[in-house]
Amino acid sequence: MSSAEPVIRFERARKEYPDGTVAVRELDLEVYEHEMLVLVGPSGCGKSTTLRMANRLVELTSGRVLVKGEDIALSDPVALRRRIGYVIQNVGLFPHRTVGQNVGTVPALLGWDARRTRDRTAELLELVGLEPGVYSQRYPHQLSGGERQRVGVARALAADPPVLLMDEPFGSVDPAGRRRLQQEFWRIQRELGTTVMLVTHDIDEAVRLGDRIAVFSRGGKLEQLADAVTLLARPAPGMVTDFVGAGRAVRLLAIGELAIGDLESVPDGGSPSAGPVAPRLAPEAPLRLGSRLDDAFAALAASGGQAAPVSGDGGAVVGQLTPDGLLAALRRMTAQLPDLADDTAARTTG
Ligand code: ADP
Repeated sequence: MSSAEPVIRFERARKEYPDGTVAVRELDLEVYEHEMLVLVGPSGCGKSTTLRMANRLVELTSGRVLVKGEDIALSDPVALRRRIGYVIQNVGLFPHRTVGQNVGTVPALLGWDARRTRDRTAELLELVGLEPGVYSQRYPHQLSGGERQRVGVARALAADPPVLLMDEPFGSVDPAGRRRLQQEFWRIQRELGTTVMLVTHDIDEAVRLGDRIAVFSRGGKLEQLADAVTLLARPAPGMVTDFVGAGRAVRLLAIGELAIGDLESVPDGGSPSAGPVAPRLAPEAPLRLGSRLDDAFAALAASGGQAAPVSGDGGAVVGQLTPDGLLAALRRMTAQLPDLADDTAARTTG
C-alpha cells in the first residue's frame, strides 16, 4: 500500500502561546526513517517550537504528533524524552560529570549495566572523533566549544534513539569548526542511518545537511518542503525565494558531488594540471570522485584555473576537472528538474 510509516507525523499541529502568539499553525509534516529533515527560516518562525512539540517540551494547542504511529499526548513525557535524542546549542552538558558520565547518562537511566554503558560510550566518543582514553575523564569546562558539541551529539546518540532532535546544534561553534562538524555529522548520520530533525536559521547549513528542507515563515507557516536541489533551483515565489537568496546558484555547488562523467582524461605524459599558469592561491586538498563541487571550484582556482587532477577510490588519478567539467556537473544536478530547462529556454529565446 503506502510507503513506510513515518517516524514522526505532525497532523494539523498548532501552538498558540497564552499571550496569543501563534508560533506554529496547522502543520502537516512527516519525517521518514533514516532521513535528515531540516527546518529552516528566520528567527521566530516557529522552528524550535515545532521541534519541541515532538518530545512534549511544548504541548500542542490543537492537532496531534505521532511518533512511530503513537499519539505522544498519550505517552509518559519523561519516558518519551529518554527515548528521543535532543541536542541543543551550547549542549547543556552536566558540568560536574565527566564526558564519559555525560554520554552514559541515558543508558544508565535505562538500566543498562556498567560494562555495556562503558562500551557504548567509548564507541560513540570514537565515532564523533574524541579519543575515549583522552576525553572520558575530562569535564566539560576542559573542552573547546566544538568538542562540547561533539559530546552533546554522542550523548544524544547513546541510547540509539528512533529520532534525534537537534536545535541549532552547531550554532555556538566558530565558522571553520562548524563546517567540519557539519561534514562529520553528515557522515555519522549516513553511517548510522539515524532519523534526524534539525533546526537552523542558516540556509547553507540546511542545504548541506538536509535530505529534505522545510522552510518556515513568520507566524509558523510551512512555505515549502523540498530536497536541496529543488529548493535552490526552484524556490517558491515570495518568501522562500527571498530567504534562499541571491547566492542560490553558488549554493548548489555546496551540495553537488564530482562524478566520473564530469572529468576529462589526463593528457599522455603530462602532469594533469600542466600549463604555464602558476598557482595563485594556496593549494587545496586533492580532489576525489565524490568531492563537493565547492571544493572542486576551490581546487580549480588554486590550480590556476585550467585543470585539477581527480583521484578515484584507490587513490590513483582517474581524470582531470576543467571549468567546462564543473559547469557540466552543475547542469547535471538541475537536469532532473524539467521546468528549469524550459524556463532557461524561454528566457534565452524570449
Ligand atoms: P524559532 O525557533 O523559529 O526562532 P520559536 O519557535 O522559538 O521560533 O518561536 C516562535 C514564536 O513563538 C516567536 O514569536 C516567539 O517569540 C514565540 N514564543 C516562543 N516561546 C514562547 C513562549 N514561551 N511564550 C510566548 N511566546 C513564545
